[in-house]
Amino acid sequence: MVPQKPISQQLIYEGKAKRIFKTDQEDQVLVEFKNDTTAFNSLKREELEGKGAINCQISVHLFELLEANQIPTHFLYQAGDARMVAKLAKIIPLEVVIRNIATGSLCKQTPIAQGTQLEPPLLDLYYKDDELADPLLTEARLERLKLVSANQRFEIERLARQINDLLKSFFEQIDLVLVDFKLEFGLGPEGEILVADEISPDTCRIWDKRNQDPKAKILDKDRFREDLGGVVRAYGEILKRIQGPSSNPGNCS
Ligand code: UDP
Repeated sequence: MVPQKPISQQLIYEGKAKRIFKTDQEDQVLVEFKNDTTAFNSLKREELEGKGAINCQISVHLFELLEANQIPTHFLYQAGDARMVAKLAKIIPLEVVIRNIATGSLCKQTPIAQGTQLEPPLLDLYYKDDELADPLLTEARLERLKLVSANQRFEIERLARQINDLLKSFFEQIDLVLVDFKLEFGLGPEGEILVADEISPDTCRIWDKRNQDPKAKILDKDRFREDLGGVVRAYGEILKRIQGPSSNPGNCS
């Protein structure tokens, strides 16, 4: 059990899966992971007991892994089973998706077959806006929206690809396949780019290498999207393997 940092009760923002509170440090926020689980732009919704704590612990571990590899993140420290303290960052309204294996929206929107290995990995940028259902951006639209400078865009994509390389090999060591995942970035107090939000089975697709059954191998939010059941058990399996003796975060560079 991680000691629980008290909440100031000053809610800054409530999202679908997290609440953000003020802390006594003006440049820090308390992030609380909720059990609420949503899919299809919140059309499907359920509360899954224990999910928040598992996602928090997985995120903490993966942020620590990134930091150990000199990738700047908003994470500061864990502050309770389902809470972490993070740097206050101005979130850039982009969802950066990296895909190693084709599935999900890519296969609904293109003729690329399910399961196609994507080498080099495909990087897609979406505009983060629930009301617009997070539309896929084109180069021209991205330029028009001026969400980031050319340098920031370059840095975000470089970091996203580096994170993919790191996470892919980390998961491989524990017999997990990183299929695809979504990252969000923010700007810290000095305008520096930080990995923000969370990295968890809510935002990644992860398959079990030890199981070849097409449904049973799914350990991520697709279990919820596709009504497969055992969502929290699957997330717990990822956490258990991450916490295993041979998988301490370390410098992989
Ligand atoms: N994703 C996410 N939040 C979103 C959209 C996607 O975390 O709002 C993640 C999703 O869990 C998957 C990856 O990004 O790991 C790619 O998702 P995809 O574009 O295939 O969308 P989906 O099939 O979820 O509609």
